[in-house]
Amino acid sequence: MPDMTDHPNQLLINGEFRDAAAGATFTAQDPARGAELATVARAGTEDVDAAVAAAREALTGAWAKTAPAKRSRMLNRLAQLIDERTDEIAELESRNVGKAKWQCAAEVKVAVSTLELFAGTAQHLYGRSHVVNPSVVTYTLREPVGVVGAIIPWNYPFMMAAWKVAPALAAGNTLVLKPASATPMSALLLGQLALEAGIPAGVLNVVPGPGGEVGEAIATHPGVDKVAFTGETGTGRRIAEAAASTLKRVSLELGGKSPNIVFGDADIEAAVLGSLWAIYYAAGQSCEARSRILVEDDAYDDFASAFAERAKGLSVGDPLAAETKVGSLISRAHADKVRGFIDIGLEDGGELLAGGREVDGLGDGLDPDAFVPPTVIGGVANDARICQEEVFGPVVTLTRFGDEAEAVKLANDVRYGLAATVWTGDGSRGHRLAQRIHAGAVGINTPFIAFPGVPFGGLKESGYGREQALESLDLYTETKAVLQNTSPKPINPLGV
Ligand code: NDP
Repeated sequence: MPDMTDHPNQLLINGEFRDAAAGATFTAQDPARGAELATVARAGTEDVDAAVAAAREALTGAWAKTAPAKRSRMLNRLAQLIDERTDEIAELESRNVGKAKWQCAAEVKVAVSTLELFAGTAQHLYGRSHVVNPSVVTYTLREPVGVVGAIIPWNYPFMMAAWKVAPALAAGNTLVLKPASATPMSALLLGQLALEAGIPAGVLNVVPGPGGEVGEAIATHPGVDKVAFTGETGTGRRIAEAAASTLKRVSLELGGKSPNIVFGDADIEAAVLGSLWAIYYAAGQSCEARSRILVEDDAYDDFASAFAERAKGLSVGDPLAAETKVGSLISRAHADKVRGFIDIGLEDGGELLAGGREVDGLGDGLDPDAFVPPTVIGGVANDARICQEEVFGPVVTLTRFGDEAEAVKLANDVRYGLAATVWTGDGSRGHRLAQRIHAGAVGINTPFIAFPGVPFGGLKESGYGREQALESLDLYTETKAVLQNTSPKPINPLGV
């Protein structure tokens, strides 16, 4: 097993890797093996103060003096460095998250594309001009919001960091980035690569540490202008409340309970294959997981048996093995929570069609308590707890519907609104439903809804703000109006 100690494991503040002011550390785990991965510096509020001070200094100093074209070159350089080290980053991520390495590699490539996308926008942050009346001309400037506190989750650590860092830097902001405590490693490596790419000291600071202390300190800090958060809905609500004390800008990418609607006129084989990806990718620990499959009555039996058979055939095991489709969950504790939801689903009248609490035939050296097999629970009513709460694991429910109107009603009958997929052979129906489903993104005959350039974000309790697209720049810029008097005469509105 490669040694991970070569990777940065200290706080990154003002261009230097350093120990926490209080000297505290914590352990990052390799959950699939139930082993320790690395000892990492654990930031406290004093370190957040130092990181914010460095980011403020860089905001009006080195970074403000860096022309947009140069910012663009640096972001492209960062993308290139990441691209060259894809395998190494994917391995680090896979070992820290427990996710299949090939999936981590795909996410590293998304991070590369995201940086390239926003590198291209740095030189196109145009304002508007307008002649208000013959003696007033106005134009607008798009200025950086300031210091961005980026707080990210453990399920896609590297990619989520890139989703925030790329648009924030393109628009001229500086950052204090807090990775999830479970997954600090790849964010620190991103910080190191940013320095290698020539991004000045203090522009990107990385402070791993507990959410209740470091995250709260960022959300309430008077020196932070905006919080960009991805995580659970409850945490997002708490952050929005904390940020309100200083009226910070906030964008929130939160949880989901997304529907996957299969009509009887769909290509059932295509629907089965796509739906497997939509729930079991990342072992279901995905905000956009389509965790509720709604199937039209006349197709239900065929779909349920084909889907359950395929789910049973997915290879569960060592995240580093090329054939693995489903790795471990992020921790034993999280796996226990997911197993608890399986029990709840069965108590609520669901029928176990595949999977369950135990994984058979795991390889040597893996921790069976950290794995949950791809699980299918059929015949569950949409108001059951398992259909309403985010499980965040490889567990999907199957629910019947009678007609299109009922499908829409069930799809929308949750507090979330992040993603949806509609499987149908009727093109008009696909577009009709796309307008009626409450979600930030709707796929028609495709499980894929997240691409660089396509707005990603939620409605309802899935949050607000759009990442990954031109709209994201609105989250990281303020519009300033400049007005010019063009009249040769003095302005004398009081008529004196
Ligand atoms: P959490 O909300 O538990 O944590 C997310 C981040 O917030 C972590 O860095 C965490 O730190 C930090 N945090 C925790 N408490 C606070 C606090 N009081 N103040 C400030 N920061 C805090 O989410 P998870 O890490 O468990 O991630 C899973 C969640 O993320 C799921 O709900 C998922 O749906 C959502 N998600 C949403 C996406 C989207 O785009 N909509 C994409 C990916 C995930 P620490 O780790 O130290 O607790």
